[in-house]
Amino acid sequence: MTLFDLTGRVAVVTGGNGGIGLGMAKGLAAAGAAVALAARNAEKGEVAATGLAASGAGSAFITFDVADEGSCRAMIQETLARFGRLDILVNNAGTSVRKPPESYTAAEWRMVLDTNLTGALFCSQAAHPAMKEAGGGKIINIGSMYSIFGTSYGAAYAASKGALVQLTKSLAIAWAKDNIQVNAVLPGWIDTELTQGARRHVPDLHDRVLARTPAGRWGVPEDLAGIAVFLAAPGSDFVTGAAIPVDGGYASMGV
Ligand code: NDP
Repeated sequence: MTLFDLTGRVAVVTGGNGGIGLGMAKGLAAAGAAVALAARNAEKGEVAATGLAASGAGSAFITFDVADEGSCRAMIQETLARFGRLDILVNNAGTSVRKPPESYTAAEWRMVLDTNLTGALFCSQAAHPAMKEAGGGKIINIGSMYSIFGTSYGAAYAASKGALVQLTKSLAIAWAKDNIQVNAVLPGWIDTELTQGARRHVPDLHDRVLARTPAGRWGVPEDLAGIAVFLAAPGSDFVTGAAIPVDGGYASMGV
């Protein structure tokens, strides 16, 4: 076992049927892990899982709804049943409702919090016994620049992503005794379906992001592959409770 070799490890990536989740799944697979992709859209999921398998990785797609507690628990059980173990959980499924805070309905608020925050807790709870029994594990939560900053058109999203960092720290402290490392990744602006929607809604968003990102470009899903491998591998065994920006310098930029 080298520092960043994941041969023999099993990962599950929620929201892994596209975007950032699939970018991270490709990295984990390239490092040797078998990867289960879990989300709602089975058509996209089967295509993504077939793509991973074509690269030689063990893979499967599992249909689930992260906003449903029973579905989270069943998805983890199915991963264990199919692959026999679970070493790495990536809580990546996420959504947003773009509107000013005074306009949120209770249902919209709860849907965003259930998807981005509460589901990550349920998936982590479900994974904990298997990881503990195996002698350790890795949980990677996907936050956002809105784990740090506020936004006038995404109060529910920012609240969920800020809280996800605090959940990360709390799980890291609680489960350190079980040799489970829990960390968050805070992506900058990445070109995915989620941000393509935001760019349709806010026409100058594309250029504003470019102007504020020191790297001078939008990210692509594959930019998240390296951090996923790092946080999933033995090389990061003393890293826990951290929230690491992968943002081309966006969060370091002053006015
Ligand atoms: P996508 O829209 O491409 O991916 C979102 C994923 O979440 C999809 O796979 C979707 O699958 C899944 N998902 C959404 N709701 C549910 C649900 N109820 N149950 C199960 N799966 C669900 O966007 P991104 O790749 O951009 O987003 C991935 C993560 O990265 C999110 O947490 C997002 O907040 C975060 N992020 C993205 C940034 C960006 O710039 N793109 C920046 C910072 C953070 P399906 O619809 O099939 O269920």
